[in-house]
Amino acid sequence: MSAVVFTGIFVVAWATSLVVRLWLARRQIAHVAAHRDAVPPAFSDTIGLGAHRKAADYTIAKQHLGVVETLVDALVLIGMTLGGGLAWLLRWTETIAVGPIWRDVLLLGAVALVGGVIGLPFSWYRTFRLEARFGFNRTTLRLWLLDLLKALALGIALGLPLTLAILWLMGRAGALWWLWAWLVWFGFQLLMLFLYPTVIAPLFNRFTPLPAGAARERIEHLLSRCGFAVAGLFVMDGSKRSAHGNAYFTGFGKARRIVFFDTLLTRLVPDEIEAILAHELGHYKLRHVIKRIVWSALVSLAFLALLAWLADSDWFYVGLGIRADLLPAAHARPGVALALFLLALPVFVFILSPLAARYSRKHEFEADAFAARNASPGALVSALVKLYEDNAATLTPDPVHSAFYDSHPPASLRVARLQAAGATAG
Ligand SMILES: [Zn+2]
Repeated sequence: MSAVVFTGIFVVAWATSLVVRLWLARRQIAHVAAHRDAVPPAFSDTIGLGAHRKAADYTIAKQHLGVVETLVDALVLIGMTLGGGLAWLLRWTETIAVGPIWRDVLLLGAVALVGGVIGLPFSWYRTFRLEARFGFNRTTLRLWLLDLLKALALGIALGLPLTLAILWLMGRAGALWWLWAWLVWFGFQLLMLFLYPTVIAPLFNRFTPLPAGAARERIEHLLSRCGFAVAGLFVMDGSKRSAHGNAYFTGFGKARRIVFFDTLLTRLVPDEIEAILAHELGHYKLRHVIKRIVWSALVSLAFLALLAWLADSDWFYVGLGIRADLLPAAHARPGVALALFLLALPVFVFILSPLAARYSRKHEFEADAFAARNASPGALVSALVKLYEDNAATLTPDPVHSAFYDSHPPASLRVARLQAAGATAG
């Protein structure tokens, strides 16, 4: 392939993903606004018009911010590639008197820094303006800054050894480096499954054992009924940062634990907590978690093989803004191919997001059905209604926007299926 042709393909993919993103945002805003003044019939008994309007306004405000962020990200991507940003970083790091692998670390660090610095005002605005306006934010500026520093330190502590290992393999491990790099990457992912619940999450939140009481009794009963061993039931002080509620499973094997946000426990009755947990349990029992891990392993293997091929192709570099006179330096520095790949990949794979979202929604329906069999479908419906209301999630998403992005099926479909399950069971 020639570099010019590849530039053309890249620009078409970039423009397509940008236009589709903006089009989807416009659809979502228009659809939600059009349904703002009437609660859907299925929810008219449970959700008030005020809460419904709040959800619409919140959804629209998030979309508006998303549009600005999409535009900025698209411009930064062009600046970094065809605009010569990465080429400039390459020339600059060539002049620094450290070993080549550390030059690549600097290059990748600079790319990450650019992304992080640009994301910062958006994160600030989201937390202290948008979330605050709708009454969700509980983070202070001090806590926000502290989180930022912790995340940065964690990124360096975990990301640096991984990056060094991958760069070293790219440079030294021969034609099959991508296979070795994949083993390292996969090992790192498994390590994270273990480190996240035990080391990382406790850096940001306090976890206390779920106190004895009706809720705990129901949960332990459900777990033993489903033959499910867990290392611990915990409550997380989610209210420290936000009023949003959630529950999740984390870890694997004997380190499995269940975490409830304190905000969730104060809002739901034991029946509903049991139903939410039964849904989460369904994800494990139906092997969704392991399927996800296998999928991500296969996809990362394919991407690394692709990267190995691209890193040897001149047109990949020149087509993305590295001028021909920089090619010898680029070929000697695996970090250049890695940076270009990580920058450019999202615009090519964006168009596949409906497939991933569809796969995820299929699992959500299956987990709901599991919950309906092992707990009360009616309690899951009332828990979901409370969660939708508390999180100001829209009940009337645009169908195309939802098909593209939503990892969970729209509320109306989930509730309809659960009510049907309740009718046949009861
Ligand atoms: Zn789920």
